[in-house]
Amino acid sequence: MFLKKIEIYGFKSFPYKVTIPFSPGITGIVGPNGAGKSNVLDAIKWVLGEQSPKKLRVKELSDLIFAGNEDKKKVDFAEVRMTINHDPPVWEKYKDFPEVVITRRFYRNGESEFFINQKPCRLKDIQFLFLELGINTQSYSIIDQGEVSKFIELSPKERRIFLEDLAGVSKFKITEEETKKNLKLTEENLIRLNDVLKEVE
Ligand code: ATP
Repeated sequence: MFLKKIEIYGFKSFPYKVTIPFSPGITGIVGPNGAGKSNVLDAIKWVLGEQSPKKLRVKELSDLIFAGNEDKKKVDFAEVRMTINHDPPVWEKYKDFPEVVITRRFYRNGESEFFINQKPCRLKDIQFLFLELGINTQSYSIIDQGEVSKFIELSPKERRIFLEDLAGVSKFKITEEETKKNLKLTEENLIRLNDVLKEVE
């Protein structure tokens, strides 16, 4: 399994569709300051499910859509598509697919669309898919400038969270949180139901 290519359209400084292929081994992206190198990394984080404007280096999410310049008018949506080589397969659910394609789209009106292998899905489905592999935008799967030194300075608790991410434990923690919330809601509903029953009796 490896990242095969990333296609970017309308995202930050990319008004035209750009395809960046990644061959096995090391791929370097070079260019002058402000050319958009870090925007490629932001595109990868975004398609993996990042939601925080700060982590994507924008004030608000609408700033992710190409805003226009002297050569090209602004565009109506941003799209990032990531193609993952899936041979040998790592996801049981997609074991028959030699490639897994993740697509995220965001429109100026605030609407979002998510797809796995062209099938509409939820953002959560994409986030969980990568959490299973210990890949998420908070872990050290993606290392920003200055983050190596940050790792050395992590507290023991923060370091544990990082290791849990790597081991794929975070997915279960999130599911546990959600289950607890649902349980609490069900308990509250039961109390209300009992009150109604008492009134009827
Ligand atoms: P450096 O080497 O300085 O870190 P870089 O190559 O990593 O630079 P980026 O930070 O990726 O550059 O890109 C910055 C450029 O992206 C700026 O020119 C900025 O104007 C442009 N940009 C960011 N968001 C948008 C947007 N929504 N619409 C148009 N241009 C954008």
